[in-house]
Amino acid sequence: MIGLDGKFYQIKYDGVASVIPDSMKSPFATVTFFKPQTLINLEGQINYQQLQQSLDQRLPTKNYPHAIRIQGNFPYLKFRSVPKQTPPYRPLADVVKEQSIFKLRNVNGTLVGFRTPKYMKGVNYNGYHFHFITANRKTGGHILDGQFQNAKIELDSLSNVEINLPKTAEFDQADLEDSKPTEVNRVKR
Ligand SMILES: [Zn+2]
Repeated sequence: MIGLDGKFYQIKYDGVASVIPDSMKSPFATVTFFKPQTLINLEGQINYQQLQQSLDQRLPTKNYPHAIRIQGNFPYLKFRSVPKQTPPYRPLADVVKEQSIFKLRNVNGTLVGFRTPKYMKGVNYNGYHFHFITANRKTGGHILDGQFQNAKIELDSLSNVEINLPKTAEFDQADLEDSKPTEVNRVKR
């Protein structure tokens, strides 16, 4: 899923994006009303790892979560998508074994994502997590790798974090006492 400019899109297993009806529910989402405070222009071409390192060096602080928006032309992007799941639900680490990987070259669009501090482990991914959608809103996905050309990066430091937990019997009865809350961080990104 990706939320951008007030609209939410689902990107299915085949990489096709579509607007989500207001009635549709999602098991997990991280969202914010994005108010960019910092603009960073990264000249030249860099890969995903270099993008994360550059951002780490330029963040105003690493102690707040950051919402991040990157716009531009992307020479190369690599995505994954996982198929729709049915009960009994399995850990994400198992589900991603069935992921589909796809690539786009020379696309215009927007990356939106978050950087979550280490101390929030168990509540969200640690580090960077980006989803992409093309300018025509037809395709995109969860970023695994890419090349970024003259990236225009906007940042919003978030000092207020609200967590809404599911009000379901499944959540009431789930065993979350041991290592499971941090399982999400074992998934390869
Ligand atoms: Zn994702």
